[in-house]
Amino acid sequence: MARYTGPSCRLCRREGAKLFLKGERCYTGKCAMERRSFPPGDAGRRRPRESEYRIQMREKQKTKRIYGMLEKQFHAYYDIATRKSGVTGETLLQLLELRLDNVVYRLGFAKSRAEARQQVRHGHIMVNGKRVTIPSYRVRPEDTIEVAEKAKELLVIKSAIAISEKVEVPEWLEVDVEKLTGHVLSIPKRDQIDSDVNEQLIVELYSK
Ligand code: SF4
Repeated sequence: MARYTGPSCRLCRREGAKLFLKGERCYTGKCAMERRSFPPGDAGRRRPRESEYRIQMREKQKTKRIYGMLEKQFHAYYDIATRKSGVTGETLLQLLELRLDNVVYRLGFAKSRAEARQQVRHGHIMVNGKRVTIPSYRVRPEDTIEVAEKAKELLVIKSAIAISEKVEVPEWLEVDVEKLTGHVLSIPKRDQIDSDVNEQLIVELYSK
């Protein structure tokens, strides 16, 4: 699956918000948003013209970037959300949250979603006792997510756990940091999703 490989901090500066793409650094004074919170490029300090379309577009771009996706894949999630019953915007966020890479990140087993994606691809994550190497795998309530036995001693996992205290585990998940195991308790409700996103703007944009 194609993905963005450029500088992460540039994306935060473009969106004018901390997207927490780089793990530990995001919580320190080294964060680019703490030092240069204006958009990158020559026109960065100029005030852009606000239009309804621009606001909707920026919200969509921000959400894509938070979850580390390119347009095609993101739009596919929107299409699935429109076919399900319920509020499309909320369903879209639920689908994104239930991705295995996101769950690994939310449980604190990785410092960022990008790192979580790599852990899944490298076979470090088990779901219900079976190795799953697909980052987009959709977890379900009652699933057990676990760091594979061989990976438990990896520095990358240990350092993620060390800083996981800074990240609150959402109510719809449960974690045992000693055993490096987590459970999906339920499908997240909108108020349980800690994302600075206005999903309605994305729905408005795509339904034009
Ligand atoms: Fe964004 Fe993290 Fe870079 Fe700060 S350090 S700009 S939050 S990716």
